[in-house]
Amino acid sequence: MKINHHYLELEQSYLFTTIAHKVSAFQAAHPEKSIIRLGIGDVTLPLCGAVVKALEDASAEMGVKETFHGYGPEQGYDFLKQAIADYYQEKGVTLALDEIFVSDGAKSDVGNILDLFDADNTVLVPDPVYPVYVDTNIMAGRKVIFADANAENGFLPLPDEKVDADIIYICSPNNPTGAVYDREGLQAWVNYAKERNAVILFDAAYECFVCDGSPRSIYEIEGAKEVAIEFCSFSKTAGFTGTRCGYTIVPKALVREGVALNGLWLRRQTTKFNGVPYIVQKGAAAVFSPEGRKETLANIDYYRENAKILADTLDRIGIRYTGGKNSPYIWMECPNGMKSWEFFDYLLENAGVVGTPGAGFGKNGEGFFRLTAFNDHENTKAAAKRIEELLGK
Ligand code: PLP
Repeated sequence: MKINHHYLELEQSYLFTTIAHKVSAFQAAHPEKSIIRLGIGDVTLPLCGAVVKALEDASAEMGVKETFHGYGPEQGYDFLKQAIADYYQEKGVTLALDEIFVSDGAKSDVGNILDLFDADNTVLVPDPVYPVYVDTNIMAGRKVIFADANAENGFLPLPDEKVDADIIYICSPNNPTGAVYDREGLQAWVNYAKERNAVILFDAAYECFVCDGSPRSIYEIEGAKEVAIEFCSFSKTAGFTGTRCGYTIVPKALVREGVALNGLWLRRQTTKFNGVPYIVQKGAAAVFSPEGRKETLANIDYYRENAKILADTLDRIGIRYTGGKNSPYIWMECPNGMKSWEFFDYLLENAGVVGTPGAGFGKNGEGFFRLTAFNDHENTKAAAKRIEELLGK
């Protein structure tokens, strides 16, 4: 037996463990100091009432012979797929129900989709970005190259005609930079992918935060259905990080080597996946009910307000940042040329505020720092005040 040696090529991810160790060591040395965490990438508000009611009702159905559900369709129930299709229609995107695949979250699908692609493909990943894209490709032995996202391009790299890529990752709004592509930027990527017969893997996990008219789906872009697969999730939209539900769109127009990728993904899912629990899909469908829409939007607005508190603070101090407007993430430049970890220590020791060092997301993250809007108002305001007192001098 031989193991998959590519796993040994993965870099150990020390980011969040190192943060946890540093924070607990600091707290042990200074038990009197209060620490505010603006490093969290998880939501903090609970599921909304409409979702909880749907989960309860569906659970009750499962306990009655006549309404019990066993195995469901691997691709998801039509009631949820129809609700998702209607949601896309609001963005001007028409989807057939069999182009929608319900899953247990975007992370699994972003990794699993790689089953469809040969190991020989070259993969283009923005740097910095959500680390799952790189690690899942390294596990499969694929060559990964990087598109530099930096202050010069507003953390939104555009295609480089000299670079040949077969699989292209785009995350917009971006984790960690909070930057969001406009129509022209996405159109450039769609055109590039079309010219090269490449496939774009578009991660729309934070689409619900877009509020300035930027695209929330890559299919709002002309020609995207022929080149892109889109991943989305109820995690940040509706607080499903622990409930687990997402969806992937594979348009039937996406054909390579004469083969529709939709058919391959259907085959993959029906072979290796047995569907999301009926109860969870009922909860997810309730997100799209009038009450669910109202309640989840109120939660998103709550996080948006936190982001604004942080962004306004940085504006007053005069620190450059991206994000915070169409995203729960604020990507700030470390002051006085500090490196990411240096600033992490400085902020923890002098303000008791915890964020995430940008260097943990890729080499271009060095010198940057990620703050998140997922804490509550009180803590966010207190942290913003401490940051202003420390850096606004
Ligand atoms: N994609 C991005 C860019 C993320 O930041 C995250 C989670 O933080 C995910 C996907 C994972 O989403 P899910 O909870 O649906 O697996």
